[in-house]
Amino acid sequence: MSKSKNNECVKVVVRCRPLNQKEIGQHHESVVNMDLKMGQVQIKNPKNPTDTPKAFTFDSIYDWNSTQTDIFEETFQGLLDSVLNGFNGTIFAYGQTGTGKTFTMEGVRSNFDLRGAIPRSFEHIYKHIARTKDQQYLVRASYLEIYQEEIRDLLSKDQTKRLELKERPDTGIYVKDLLSFVTKSVKEIEHVMDVGNKNRSVGATNMNEHSSRSHAIFVITIECSEDGLDGKNHIRVGKLNLVDLAGSERQAKSGASGERLKEATKINLSLSALGNVISALVDGNSHIPYRDSKLTRLLQDSLGGNAKTVMVANIGPASYNFDETITTLRYANRAK
Ligand code: ADP
Ligand code: MG
Repeated sequence: MSKSKNNECVKVVVRCRPLNQKEIGQHHESVVNMDLKMGQVQIKNPKNPTDTPKAFTFDSIYDWNSTQTDIFEETFQGLLDSVLNGFNGTIFAYGQTGTGKTFTMEGVRSNFDLRGAIPRSFEHIYKHIARTKDQQYLVRASYLEIYQEEIRDLLSKDQTKRLELKERPDTGIYVKDLLSFVTKSVKEIEHVMDVGNKNRSVGATNMNEHSSRSHAIFVITIECSEDGLDGKNHIRVGKLNLVDLAGSERQAKSGASGERLKEATKINLSLSALGNVISALVDGNSHIPYRDSKLTRLLQDSLGGNAKTVMVANIGPASYNFDETITTLRYANRAK
């Protein structure tokens, strides 16, 4: 029996981007083969090309020919529907910088077909609401970032403020003072995302570098109320977390010191804490180490229990990425 059978609530998929123009121009070789029927990723070591490729098997895999629509319909939509039914859910994009995390989560705004998980979720949610007759929905959006284990509200006017995690016996973990905005349409929630994205780049001298070192979490809370057969009003609340994780590349290159080293250690800390939580959930452990990082504490009520989780492990196909690609596949393999 495969390990993934122990917990149907955690799904790990691998997505490999195509070689880009620059890589093609420089005649880089692809070392990744995706066997879609077997759900198997095979990778050959460019240093020992005659060795048998290493093979990893996953719930689903997406190669360079797969579309945003494919991954949304097969992998994200079910999770979204369960959120609309009052459960919590989290979609993570994991992987080395440049492998397609933001492409998977946000996609390309200017191209309808290339929209990623977040805009497609907006559309799916409001389409569902428009179709529903006997229920009232209230949708709220928050957007935050974790950078060096510090939480910043991307929707706040004051971007220098840091927020604290608190715990209440009745409602559990929450971010104190985190703003949330009620949105009534795709346009309105897109606007919230745009504001957050703008704020995200504020104060970042190098946006690429900043986004590769911080976790961005877009949270959609969906409240649904309906009159039950008992004549009483019932409310269900589901929460969807859409997480573009920090780059998984090894940060602590030799020579890093001071701030850089401190930062590197903290980035690796929340990514490894997340790996530990997911692997403990999949193994059915009684102790889940949520408390080990801000990221896992914050998402505690959306990881495990009745919540559904999808982790997309993004990889690049080029031979020079071999070491990072293997590391990502191992991380994902452990999480499934
Ligand atoms: P990351 O967020 O992991 O650093 P990006 O999402 O920014 O990576 O992707 C890097 C580049 O590769 C972007 O130009 C993006 O549009 C492109 N890209 C990523 N994944 C794909 C894909 N599956 N198909 C086509 N282009 C992709
Ligand atoms: Mg990115």
